[in-house]
Amino acid sequence: MKNRTLFIRWMVTAAALAAAAVFLISRPERDPSWEQPTMGTTAHITLSGPVHKKRLKQIQFAIDAALEDVNRQMSTWQDDTEISEFNRAKTAAVPVSPDFAAVVRRALDWSAATDGAFDPTVKPLVDHWGFGPQANSQTPEKILQFTGWKKLHVKNHALSKDDPRLQLDLSAIAKGYGVDRVADVIRNHGFRNFLVEIGGELVAEGTNPSGEHWRVGIESPEPDRAFGERLFRVAELSGKAMATSGDYRRFRTREDGTRYSHIINPKTGRPAETDIAAVSVLADSCMNADAVATALFVMGSEKALQWLESRPELQALFILHNPNGGDFISRLTPGFPSDQ
Ligand code: AMP
Ligand code: MG
Repeated sequence: MKNRTLFIRWMVTAAALAAAAVFLISRPERDPSWEQPTMGTTAHITLSGPVHKKRLKQIQFAIDAALEDVNRQMSTWQDDTEISEFNRAKTAAVPVSPDFAAVVRRALDWSAATDGAFDPTVKPLVDHWGFGPQANSQTPEKILQFTGWKKLHVKNHALSKDDPRLQLDLSAIAKGYGVDRVADVIRNHGFRNFLVEIGGELVAEGTNPSGEHWRVGIESPEPDRAFGERLFRVAELSGKAMATSGDYRRFRTREDGTRYSHIINPKTGRPAETDIAAVSVLADSCMNADAVATALFVMGSEKALQWLESRPELQALFILHNPNGGDFISRLTPGFPSDQ
């Protein structure tokens, strides 16, 4: 009898331990937040609320696949990508993935809408100025003879060029597109409260782990500062995408000490030199915010603010160099979230 009681006790304890182990393994993770390298930078992702570990693994797997997809289509830094194949091609049409064709179509829409301030055919110029994957020793004047978004065409799922020397660079829109793809993966898994950020371009949706709108820091555009070391402003965001273009992270210094940035004015073939140190754009998608931020940087603040007047769906914050050498000056469109 005593043995039996002992045995039952042992069984109950074993069952309790097993249940505890199962509970620990399947216990949901609260507000998971992680980072991963992608597109030559880092992605940061946060989901608000509890997520079961197995589900989290599935989401992370799907995000990896989506980012690899974008990379395989749009990276000019690898030879075996769709964009590199197109760049090597002559004038015959090159079939590409439907997603890739859609991004090029959107890039051309923004080229038309910005009167060519955004231009995805600047790659040989980007190379010439030392910011691209290859070298190009031709003069900007010579290169300008074969660049220009009007020489690039998308038909169905194929790209073609009027000049065999034309090359594509989607760096000014692909990161934003990558953020949108990751956000789609998260939405498709049923999540409504999350933040996705890749190298400063982001989508903030729903609420943060404290149940409030996301608070996003906009950096002070000073080259010597580490990432996020000094914030210029904090914006509260929900259901918005934001992208920033600036001259303070990727630039080169001339012998006289002046800087030139990686953003090219497609009309002059030279690095855009405007009053803007950084411009942050809010839009419905990160792909749009990304393309527009680059274009506004090229325009300079006067023209950019005028251009934005007829586009109330876009909001922007301009951080401008002070001509008198003092603190930065900020200008913003109505609707840009007030400082928090
Ligand atoms: P972003 O950081 O989004 O402004 O993108 C800048 C990158 O896009 C550069 O490093 C170039 O590879 C490319 N780029 C430079 N100038 C332009 C331009 N005017 N239009 C489109 N892409 C550009
Ligand atoms: Mg951009």
